[in-house]
Amino acid sequence: MNMNDYIVRATAANAQIRAFAAATTELTEQARVHHGTSPVATAALGRLLTGGVMMGSMMKNPMDVLTLQIHCSGPINGLTVTADASGGVKGYVNVPDVILPPKNGKLDVGGALGQGILNVIKDMGLKEPYAGQTILQTGEIAEDLTYYFATSEQIPSSVGLGVLMEKNNTVRCAGGFIIQVMPFIEEEVLVKLEENVSKIQSVTSMLDNGHTPEEMLSQVLEGLDMEVTDTLPAKFDCNCSKDRIEKAIISIGKKDIQEMIDDGESIEVKCHFCNTAYHFTVDELQVLLEKSR
Ligand SMILES: [Zn+2]
Repeated sequence: MNMNDYIVRATAANAQIRAFAAATTELTEQARVHHGTSPVATAALGRLLTGGVMMGSMMKNPMDVLTLQIHCSGPINGLTVTADASGGVKGYVNVPDVILPPKNGKLDVGGALGQGILNVIKDMGLKEPYAGQTILQTGEIAEDLTYYFATSEQIPSSVGLGVLMEKNNTVRCAGGFIIQVMPFIEEEVLVKLEENVSKIQSVTSMLDNGHTPEEMLSQVLEGLDMEVTDTLPAKFDCNCSKDRIEKAIISIGKKDIQEMIDDGESIEVKCHFCNTAYHFTVDELQVLLEKSR
């Protein structure tokens, strides 16, 4: 499948429902290539990237930043995803090479995560960022985000996320949807929505059958007068640079930089989010030492 990634935003039933869907095959594959993730780690990261990029697009301002952080006791140890308001997203897992036997014929994402907590941090340029914390429900990520919306934001939601791998362990398809109901929703609309949600195929089946985000939404919102509001491109986007890494090194302080210089060898620093390696010679470290306090 060679379509570019994008997010669709829609409303239904006279704005009693708002809906998001995304195709994220390319950005999930990019994340896999950057981090060399195993199939189960790719599935976990792809689901969180997909949820994150849609949640990012819910924010109002171009400078807003959303971070989804999972701390967990399972072998993947943790995941971090950061998204902006315009379709950019990046992320990593703590243990990229985790291998688990399949569960019921599927990649065992829940087993990889185990028990843990989900932190949702929205930095909207205010002094204090918004932060919500919930306990993981299943570790399958979609259910965990549903629970977060219900308890932390008091917005009843239905979240579907899916990543399907090829036999050669590249990403075959990835995507998902988020449906949210407004407090003033009429009972009959809610009943119809719940009926639709209970009937639809899994996200991976829909994607594998070639359904676009629009087609996924029109199945979930069938008979509810869906209106697409807009679409925006989605991409794996890391804004790291040698300059940013320099600032990070300067911030660790003179003592630690001096130790690196005393080791007498150039150092390599990798960006967590995209795994790009940056090299600093002893001479360059000397310059950073001058700039440090
Ligand atoms: Zn980077």
